[in-house]
Amino acid sequence: VFNGDLRDGENSLAELAALAETAGSQVLDAIMQRRDQPDPGTFLGSGKAKELRDIVVETGADTVICDGELSPSQRRALEDVVKVKVIDRTALILDIFAQHARSREGKAQVELAQLEYLLPRLRGWGESMSRQAGGRVAGGEGIGSRGPGETKIELDRRRIRTRIAKLRRQIREMKTARDVSRHDRKRHEVPSVAIAGYTNAGKSSLLNRLTNAGVLVENALFATLDPTVRRAETSDGRTYTLADTVGFVRHLPHQLVEAFRSTLEEVADSDLVLHVVDAAHPDPEGQIQAVRTVLADVEAHQVPELIVLNKADAADPEVIARIRSRERAVVVVSARTGEGLAELQSRIEELLPRPDIDVEVLLP
Ligand code: GDP
Repeated sequence: VFNGDLRDGENSLAELAALAETAGSQVLDAIMQRRDQPDPGTFLGSGKAKELRDIVVETGADTVICDGELSPSQRRALEDVVKVKVIDRTALILDIFAQHARSREGKAQVELAQLEYLLPRLRGWGESMSRQAGGRVAGGEGIGSRGPGETKIELDRRRIRTRIAKLRRQIREMKTARDVSRHDRKRHEVPSVAIAGYTNAGKSSLLNRLTNAGVLVENALFATLDPTVRRAETSDGRTYTLADTVGFVRHLPHQLVEAFRSTLEEVADSDLVLHVVDAAHPDPEGQIQAVRTVLADVEAHQVPELIVLNKADAADPEVIARIRSRERAVVVVSARTGEGLAELQSRIEELLPRPDIDVEVLLP
């Protein structure tokens, strides 16, 4: 649902689709509707909701994702029409953050955001649970007493509030600890490269290109790495890790700001940042600035940065020339056509730290 410019609505929906794919979904179809306000009943309005139901049936979709934040009653009303699970943008982004959080602090921040999102929605949950409970346990409570569902919701709420308070305390302590140890930057045996940038810039396309280009070798060393970290190899046979970070999104919901920063904090520990930019975006320079501001906030501005201007096939050559002339380290690529990838590989090779050369290897 959008109310202004069609182009804005389309961009936002394209971003939502990219987020859904990041979360592991396959996007089957999309519908848009222009209206001043989302419908208070079903978000879309009943006519559009029925149309959506037809699309769900036709495509066999099992989930509907709305580009916005749904109230608990909107979600239920829409689920009643489309008969499949309905989630909103915030829930989707929370899911992606949960996949990407690696550090203890990142995990705690994401859990905090999830609970803050859940707390005001507990009512909707509780209501349907008490309906179910009422069906199973016939007449469990006396007349005039609060229903079992109600008591359970109160209990759940109290538990969640206690957990939230505990997480906040833990996060404060972890922050203090981090400030103390900030200066001894981790030395890696295997150099690490982090990919950062906006959602939809082409980060995962590049990750695939770069890791498929490498030779496949025995993977024991990487067996324990989490799925967002992959191994890659330079043409001279050096191995490095390539970590995908959680993508920047426009209009990040407020519960997620801190969680977002925490999941990005590990970028500060990597040896190189590939800052991927969608050169075909209406405002690539604005995006570059926004990414840099956040990276500086999480102390990652000391890490060498290579700007990877992606989608060269679709971008305005003037925009590319302008960014190239202003930035120090830029490589222009297209993950789609393969243009510039060889250069990207060799720039990564140059910028990776070299391990101390083992003298024995040099002896005849
Ligand atoms: P991510 O969200 O940053 O991981 O971005 P994706 O890799 O998922 O790509 C987002 C969208 O941009 C997808 O529809 C890709 O097909 C498209 N895309 C990625 N690289 C290129 C490119 O070099 N040129 C063009 N035209 N499209 C691209």
